[in-house]
Amino acid sequence: MTSIKNYNLNELKQIFLELGEKQYRAEQVFKWLYIDKANSFDEMTNLSIELRKKLKQNFEITEYTILKKQVSKDGTKKYLFRLSDKNTIETVLMEYKYGKSICVSTQIGCKMGCKFCASTGIGFVRNLTSAEIIEQILAVEKDENVKVSNVVFMGIGEPLDNYDNVVNAIRIINNQKGINIGARHMSISTSGLVPRIYNLADENIQCTLSISLHATNNKKRSSLMPINNLYSIEELIKACKYYIKKTNRRVSFEYALIKGENDTLDDAKGLIRLLKGMLCHVNLIQVNKIETRLFEKSNNENIINFRNYLNENGIVATIRRELGSDIEAACGQLRRSAATGNVLK
Ligand code: SAH
Repeated sequence: MTSIKNYNLNELKQIFLELGEKQYRAEQVFKWLYIDKANSFDEMTNLSIELRKKLKQNFEITEYTILKKQVSKDGTKKYLFRLSDKNTIETVLMEYKYGKSICVSTQIGCKMGCKFCASTGIGFVRNLTSAEIIEQILAVEKDENVKVSNVVFMGIGEPLDNYDNVVNAIRIINNQKGINIGARHMSISTSGLVPRIYNLADENIQCTLSISLHATNNKKRSSLMPINNLYSIEELIKACKYYIKKTNRRVSFEYALIKGENDTLDDAKGLIRLLKGMLCHVNLIQVNKIETRLFEKSNNENIINFRNYLNENGIVATIRRELGSDIEAACGQLRRSAATGNVLK
């Protein structure tokens, strides 16, 4: 049975019409699901018993079981959720000065094969549904009794490889009658699925596009990220320029510094050559440890010099604060199966 959380408000209105009901019922259900966080149709007491019965016959309500919750010394929380088919995914809640940001997974496993990322190591199982993407927000908000203000599609999986479900999830999360998080408070990160970047630009959604760049020449990028064999850096940058033109939004480039691999002055010059004059921002990340491969972090002084050099040459660059690495909740450390660490729940 399909989850009712897979439908955006317009689709729900249509469904209610087909069920012989008034359209405004869809808004009532939307409120129950996303504001009251109801877990059953029986809680929806302003619907007739008959309508509740009809809904029960046709839909389920996605709900997660928390298998594990870990808390980092910096306050970051990582959840391991069990889905209805017994697969598991991870979700991370981070605290920033401006609010709470949630990092959601979009697939069970990942096909991309990036050499430095743990999410890809144990293979790909399936796409998450829109409901399963959204439920990560609802389950965390409920568990922590908080309101999330930002969503980053930077957990397990390649969001643009699950394009339709991710875009639909954004529309549902965005809806003012529900979770009501503005598109400008959402970031989609991609390893570089060029055709989908063009599609996203044409969607008329104002979310931030983040590109996992990590290298500035094709040989090096292809050796780290196999997707680069399919779409070169030049094609990727061209797609980003199209995204900027269509949305007027600043594109963010993620660049994980790996000692001896991509952290030299030449690499910084490569970035400047590539990005000069673009409406963009570079997010420097310390490469995080993963079990399967030993990439060493660039040293702190080098990272600061790298950032300063970019800034001095007209490229806005910041160093991303490392959060949750003690519980393997940092960039590139999420996995689709139970991780190690302290079990709190
Ligand atoms: N598949 C998408 C979404 C994942 S986002 C993408 O590739 O963008 C996760 C971010 O963390 C990406 O920018 C990814 O490149 C980065 N990342 C992966 N492994 C990392 C590691 N070991 N250290 C630091 N960043 C890493």
